[in-house]
Amino acid sequence: RMPILAVLALLLAAATLGPIATRAEEFQFQSDVQRVMQIIINSLYKTKEIFLRELVSNAADAIEKSRFLGITDKNVLAGNPHFNITIEADKDARTLTIADSGIGMTKEDLQKNLGTIAKSGTADFLRALETSNDKNAVGLIGQFGCGFYASYLVADKVTVISKHPNDDQHIWESNAANAFTIVPDPAGNTLGRGTKIVLHLKDDATEYLEDVTLRSLVTKYSEFVPFPIYLHTRKT
Ligand code: ADP
Ligand code: MG
Repeated sequence: RMPILAVLALLLAAATLGPIATRAEEFQFQSDVQRVMQIIINSLYKTKEIFLRELVSNAADAIEKSRFLGITDKNVLAGNPHFNITIEADKDARTLTIADSGIGMTKEDLQKNLGTIAKSGTADFLRALETSNDKNAVGLIGQFGCGFYASYLVADKVTVISKHPNDDQHIWESNAANAFTIVPDPAGNTLGRGTKIVLHLKDDATEYLEDVTLRSLVTKYSEFVPFPIYLHTRKT
């Protein structure tokens, strides 16, 4: 006969251990990332629309990588044979989603690429950004490569779902405070391959749900993108 205390201990262990596997892991942004995000938000509020240029260019870079790797490694293309970008506006949820069938990111990629700034010269860049005017700042951001963080010009929360050929699908999420979370996607590997970026738009950025606005931005920023971009909006 098992002592009652042992039974209770087992039940308690089962109750606490159970959900641990799916609990989100929390990570701190590198301090440079926090500074860059603050500067972007404070200096680029007049040119918010560049977030789309940055996200579309990241999507195109990732697709080009999967296309290139797929030439020699058929496994890369197994998850999804297509190369395209989809932009979808959901007025009810107030989300704008940019999805690509690019190479995707492993859990480690998500942690590194969307949590640190790897490039050297960050200090110089930050100084240049702090003293630049709006027009220069737009150029600097694209040049230096911290375009992803421009998402926070229009979103107060960003969710990144990504599937890389070498890892399971993970979900990265952050409200741009000082931390982000990563969790294995409980839905499984729904993307096949690629990345889906869900922007939970701020109150003052709902214009980016409008068909006309998106259509003109996509036209403007897709000129040099060699992959099809599909836009899904409702006209009402
Ligand atoms: P940059 O594009 O100049 O490197 P970003 O801040 O725009 O800087 O993006 C940081 C990194 O995050 C990219 O280099 C890439 O590794 C990764 N990344 C961003 N968006 C995607 C995406 N859609 N698919 C795959 N990787 C991505
Ligand atoms: Mg970029």
